Amino acid sequence: MPTIFSRIISGEIPSYKIAEDENHFAFLDINPVTPGHTLVVPKKEVSYLFDLSDSDYTALQLFAKRVAAAVEKAIPCKRVGVTVIGLEVPHAHIHLLPINTEADMDFHHKQTLPAERMEEIAATIRANFK
Ligand code: 5GP
Repeated sequence: MPTIFSRIISGEIPSYKIAEDENHFAFLDINPVTPGHTLVVPKKEVSYLFDLSDSDYTALQLFAKRVAAAVEKAIPCKRVGVTVIGLEVPHAHIHLLPINTEADMDFHHKQTLPAERMEEIAATIRANFK
């Protein structure tokens, strides 16, 4: 049974896509903690981030670095915060969040944004991805 993230990667479930390469996929979190909250995942289904091989882990982090640069350019913020939780979806992923304060990293404060706003945010980040 594929994970929800594999179903997003295959296009079976829609997402606000940010970027993709052969082995990685980035898209907006459906319930962002801050606007621009992005998930970066390996296409390979591995449940736990730290079970990735050294080379897959390094490649994922390097891809996340490129995505973070695009998020930082697209969304006014002081930093792009990085976190790993993985309690909900058993498919390794990295959370990237535009933040201005430590409180912006509070995962108790998830929101739902209108679809047009999510698409607008995704388009702006996509335009800055290199
Ligand atoms: P974690 O596994 O790191 O605890 O949390 C998984 C994250 O994935 C959550 O922040 C949640 O909002 C997000 N998420 C869960 N299901 C979906 C989905 O179907 N689409 C998107 N875009 N994000 C999801």
